[in-house]
Amino acid sequence: MLESIRADLLQWFANHARDLPWRRTRDPYAIMVAEVMLQQTQVDRVIPKYHAFLAAFPTVETLAAAPTAEVIRLWAGLGYNRRAVNLQRAAQAIVAHHGGRVPDSIAALRSLPGIGPYTAGAIACFAFEQDVAFLDTNIRRVVRRLCVGPDQLVAPTDSELLAHAEALIPPGQGWTWNQAIMELGALICTATGPACWRCPLRQHCRAYAAAVAADEVLATTVAAPALKRVAEPRSNEPFIGSRRWYRGRVIATLRALPTGTALPLSELGRQVRPDFSPNHEPWLQQLVSDLARDGLLVITEQGVRLPE
Ligand code: SF4
Repeated sequence: MLESIRADLLQWFANHARDLPWRRTRDPYAIMVAEVMLQQTQVDRVIPKYHAFLAAFPTVETLAAAPTAEVIRLWAGLGYNRRAVNLQRAAQAIVAHHGGRVPDSIAALRSLPGIGPYTAGAIACFAFEQDVAFLDTNIRRVVRRLCVGPDQLVAPTDSELLAHAEALIPPGQGWTWNQAIMELGALICTATGPACWRCPLRQHCRAYAAAVAADEVLATTVAAPALKRVAEPRSNEPFIGSRRWYRGRVIATLRALPTGTALPLSELGRQVRPDFSPNHEPWLQQLVSDLARDGLLVITEQGVRLPE
């Protein structure tokens, strides 16, 4: 069973893999940039930004030494701007503590700012070709559906899912396997509309078997009901008016200013919300304090600006 899961997915990947720029390199710095960008942003939005970012900051050293405002500006369109600041801090730590070379051990990677278990695993696997298991949203979803299914009453923990993910990796083929399972999650086993009828793992999948059993219809005719049963809601966009949305508006407003220019708080308030009034001042102050704490802006006597 394990062998045929591996063979079926690897065969599918050999035929359907997208040609993505970060799959053509083993440069650990480029992989790190790609993985941080991909954490919460879709592939088609990442591709042009990935090229632009590496053109502007081609090495760990150039990123470490760049003005933070430039790094935040280049991050425009990717969202979650804090990642830009953390990526630069990671580059600075690599220069300071690792001689400018991205470390290859999970422990050393985890010690870098903004590098969590997923990104550390992805860098170890995709840059250094280690057989490491890790869970991003795609892998977590595929592993859960494939190995656990909907019948387990208690939701599986991440360590259970990680154990399943680890067991699935064909020895010596971690790079291809992890790319393949992520690709399946992105293209076939999606959150809201898994295309089970064309999934190479259908015959091994617990979620699919449960969906078919529940509908009591043969597999070839159950695509739609099975999909509904397997699907789950998902949204990665900030709600208009949410805190994350306003954080993005503040940074977008500051990005548009010439380098070093500070904007008075009241003017910033008017630019991020048309209904801005003195009543909103405590709210705005809290918002910019949080952004300053995250390293995304600087509060000065003249107002707020991007970090130099
Ligand atoms: S059969 Fe369906 S639920 Fe199972 S892994 Fe494939 S797409 Fe996902």
